[in-house]
Amino acid sequence: MTERPYYLGIDLGATSVKAGVVSAEKDLKATFVVDIAGKDAKEVLEAIFTSIRRAVAKAGMTLDDIAAVGVASPGPLDLEAGVICDSPNIHGWRNVPLSKLLNEELGLPAILENDANAAALGEYHHQADPRIKVLAMYTLGTGIGGGIVIDGKALHGAQGNAAELGHIIVEPDGRQCACGQRGCAEAYASANSTAARAAQALQQGCESSLSQVLRAEGALTAKDVADHARQGDALAAKILDQSAYYLALLSVDVWHVVDPQRIVLGGGMAQAGDILLNPVRKHFQQLCWQLQGTGGIEIVLTKLGNQAEMIGAASAAALAFGR
Ligand SMILES: [Zn+2]
Repeated sequence: MTERPYYLGIDLGATSVKAGVVSAEKDLKATFVVDIAGKDAKEVLEAIFTSIRRAVAKAGMTLDDIAAVGVASPGPLDLEAGVICDSPNIHGWRNVPLSKLLNEELGLPAILENDANAAALGEYHHQADPRIKVLAMYTLGTGIGGGIVIDGKALHGAQGNAAELGHIIVEPDGRQCACGQRGCAEAYASANSTAARAAQALQQGCESSLSQVLRAEGALTAKDVADHARQGDALAAKILDQSAYYLALLSVDVWHVVDPQRIVLGGGMAQAGDILLNPVRKHFQQLCWQLQGTGGIEIVLTKLGNQAEMIGAASAAALAFGR
């Protein structure tokens, strides 16, 4: 039998499927993206197969060169059975045995991974740093996805629900979270929360250059808040600093549980860059327990950007089926 040193990573997003061919060294060889906005369940499955075949062809390979497939998907998932229990984005996707369907269609072993765990796996394994044994990651978007990787493996917990870092409570009796709890990190530091808190402050009469954006667009984004903070708007800077404060508070909690050497800020809001990262670092230093010191921990921005889930899905496949 020939060597099969490549893995396929699939990122099953809300509006697109991204497939990537990744080497055993975690180098990305080729990608192919298929739009799935508005597509039904059957069309989405076809889109996944198409993205895989086109990515493999683009890499100048055939399926014979591929060892296994990993899929990063939002939950809830049955990781052991390889089943997507319910999809927040795809209408009619309930109890879809995706690992089995991929195996039947492609003749390759397949595995599912939670999208935020996959992103953390991607950041851990891509250009792996041998010093890093424990890594935690937040994907800052509509909500906050969380992933923890220890000694190269994603932390799943007893029922696959570990590392839901966005739902760690940072403010008792605080803002309502979509999960039903109050005061979750997600309700304070996600991209959506950052935009919503800015809009609320404007409605309460705060002065800001953001009010022109709200009037013109009818809504704000976290990018608006970051852009206006960068331009010196005081309210935007305050709102972004609050988000950073809550991410730092979350990081102190995460630090005391798993003692990570690296915490990665990812997802769309990480594109804000240093204007978000620097205050997270500053608040973390001020908040954390100083006795032990924090010399061993670094808080950084994502290296892989929106390819983290896809590359990490390939890592999950390599972990499950690699030699
Ligand atoms: Zn929550």
